[in-house]
Amino acid sequence: MGRVAKPTGRPVIPVAVDESTDELVFFEDGRPPRSPVRVTLTEFDMGRLRAGYICLQCKEDLDNAFPDECPVCHYKMATRQAEDFATQFKGTIHVGPSTTLEDEREIMQEMRRREARERELHFGLDIVKPQIIVPTIRGVR
Ligand SMILES: [Zn+2]
Repeated sequence: MGRVAKPTGRPVIPVAVDESTDELVFFEDGRPPRSPVRVTLTEFDMGRLRAGYICLQCKEDLDNAFPDECPVCHYKMATRQAEDFATQFKGTIHVGPSTTLEDEREIMQEMRRREARERELHFGLDIVKPQIIVPTIRGVR
């Protein structure tokens, strides 16, 4: 009896799923080749996947690492996952704003400054209309 695992029920939600267009996956069983789907996981899920707690094939979260097979899709996790992961893993990418919190704050302040300036300019133009003072020359009219 090998190692078994049960699904934990914790949802593994990909950050992004993209069909990559510059690659093709060929199957040995005669299915037509297709573009692989690139699944982006959070750092936390990636760690669990690498540690064998998430099935590489169906992304089920399990309570035991590297069971003989995934209880959901029967993928041979013990013998295949580490190797498949090594060939499928495309590296880490940074998802989300590339700016730091400090930058964000600076951007917000700049936006507020600009807004205030625009408001001033807007109202300023309304209020400070160039005034043409036409002197009334007594006696001419
Ligand atoms: Zn599975």
